[in-house]
Amino acid sequence: MQLCTYQRADGPRVGVIADGLCFDAGYDGAMTDLIRDWPAARRGVDQAVAAGTGTPLAQVRLLAPILRPGKIFAIGLNYADHIEESKVATPEHQVWFTKGVTSVNGPYHPVTIARNGPFVDYEVELVAVIGKGGKNIAAGAAAEHIFGYCVGNDVTERVWQHRTPQWSLGKSFDTHAPFGPWITTADAVADVHDLGIRCLVNGDLRQNSNTRHLVFNVFQQIEHLSQAMTLEPGDVIFTGTPGGVGAAMDPRQFLKPGDVTRCEIDSLGHIENRFEAEA
Ligand code: ZN
Repeated sequence: MQLCTYQRADGPRVGVIADGLCFDAGYDGAMTDLIRDWPAARRGVDQAVAAGTGTPLAQVRLLAPILRPGKIFAIGLNYADHIEESKVATPEHQVWFTKGVTSVNGPYHPVTIARNGPFVDYEVELVAVIGKGGKNIAAGAAAEHIFGYCVGNDVTERVWQHRTPQWSLGKSFDTHAPFGPWITTADAVADVHDLGIRCLVNGDLRQNSNTRHLVFNVFQQIEHLSQAMTLEPGDVIFTGTPGGVGAAMDPRQFLKPGDVTRCEIDSLGHIENRFEAEA
């Protein structure tokens, strides 16, 4: 199943995508509430879709699937080719940082290049959404805790990222966490560790890899994170980016106003964002 958050006249609503149409899920709550209520709520969603009339996707304004996650964590240096281009040693421990929840952005919304942060770069990433919460989740049990997956762009301001040892500010500018376009539930993804993953900038293929090349796979990431903190329904995890980022090009390339990034992952769809200067 593919679940979205879309803009209806009376506010954001949860929807279901099927056959190129968006159906209202018949659920009076946010995506995070629905995830918490799943799977008891699933029958009601199925019934609403069966009885409903779909709207063609082209006429629907999709929002970020989760408008205000409890937390957004992201792992750095987690594909071998990205470690190599970053000219650093392979980390012994998983490298984690947060993205501020105010950086959430929609799948087709503009991304802002801030006046005080112009060195903006793209990072296509598989995004995992936590379903059932938990603490000390073993890797072997992690799949039961994943609600589904999205496509994300871990947009990064490279100067802010690297001028301190802690990356979180450079990763947390407003609008710098577009993801979506919907959540594909985990049961609809055959093998999350065998998905083609790509980023194009103005149609130019910059990143082109496969999630089988993750250094720490999604389940190992959940095991590691949950040793420190309780994961909760609707928490969002960016699982790392492959090689090909603009900062590693020679000469370095940063995104300019008017540039468009398209991030895509097999089976999960794509997001597309235009970059704009801060007003
Ligand atoms: Zn990243």
